[in-house]
Amino acid sequence: MTNIEVNPWNLPGFDMKKPIIIAGPCSAETETQTLATAKLVAAQGIKIFRAGIWKPRTRPGAFEGVGTAGLPWLQKVKKETGLFVGTEVASAQHVFEALKYGIDIIWVGARTTANPFAVQEIADALRGADLPVLVKNPVNPDIDLWIGAIERISQAGITQLAAIHRGFSTYAKSDYRNHPQWLIPMELRRRLPQIPIITDPSHISGKRSLLAEVSQQAMDLNFDGLIIESHCNPDEAWSDAKQQIHPDQLQSMLRSLTYRNPNIVNVPRTELDDLRLRIDDIDNQLIDLLRDRMQISKQIGLYKQANNITILQTRRYNEVIRDRNEKAGRKGLNEAFVSRVFESIHEESVLQQSLVMNSKGNTH
Ligand code: PEP
Ligand code: MN
Repeated sequence: MTNIEVNPWNLPGFDMKKPIIIAGPCSAETETQTLATAKLVAAQGIKIFRAGIWKPRTRPGAFEGVGTAGLPWLQKVKKETGLFVGTEVASAQHVFEALKYGIDIIWVGARTTANPFAVQEIADALRGADLPVLVKNPVNPDIDLWIGAIERISQAGITQLAAIHRGFSTYAKSDYRNHPQWLIPMELRRRLPQIPIITDPSHISGKRSLLAEVSQQAMDLNFDGLIIESHCNPDEAWSDAKQQIHPDQLQSMLRSLTYRNPNIVNVPRTELDDLRLRIDDIDNQLIDLLRDRMQISKQIGLYKQANNITILQTRRYNEVIRDRNEKAGRKGLNEAFVSRVFESIHEESVLQQSLVMNSKGNTH
């Protein structure tokens, strides 16, 4: 692996002491919304403002950002509030525009990090520039892809670097919008101890109610900062409305966090700590999978009700148990244990089906 040189961010008057806080709306929507949010953020003593100008949306038709027209608004934010301003870039053209308008910080988004061609194009466009560049983790849980993107930016001569942990996509429905998989940023810390890690609780949570918990976990793991989406009128935001909070709420959330003594936090993590974290992570995934499974059981209940089929289908049940035991045996699991687990799951499944059938009343 190439040597990645990391230096503190060279922003006049900015102190990199922990926690580094970056806040601002998911997207710059209008000049008024951008300026109003920036003033509220600055009033909270926060020094770095974020606002998306080019928005990578999963589906066409969603708000894709105001584009270059929003860059003068960020210049105005700088002039009127003294905040440093940051935005996401996804192409060489975005880099040129951002540099032209004096953007202080840029970041590479999760979808872009997953694409080495795009990252290389951005790196080439950055050659000779001197500003902090933050690299979000790729949408998929691939640490090498994350490190590869950091390496490409580093090889373009950028040393003011940081990584942003924003969680990872999963197919299973989860309480999180993007599963944190804390072990991955921890592994990044182990492999690149010199690079600051900033957690993005907004994109991990996807909803306000989880922000404090995720932020606290990031602080407990001794990460370096938080990037949080904050909007002057969050419910009316044009993108990611559910996860944005008013700057006043942001301030009370930040005050509610416990910032532990770094000397205690810095006690090296033991292998046991890492193993426990992996167990927590797997249990969380099991819970999500069980919830998905029960959801399907309820749908089956509705189908059986509509078609007047009995809940308990002995042949199907025996088949399921036999199949799962056989698979478990092949994987070296104790078959008796797996039988117990599936019997218990099946029992709950039947209960859920009958609850659904009884609550809707029998149509037959
Ligand atoms: C964002 O920061 O608004 C954003 C689009 O994030 P991500 O790339 O993590 O999805
Ligand atoms: Mn967003």
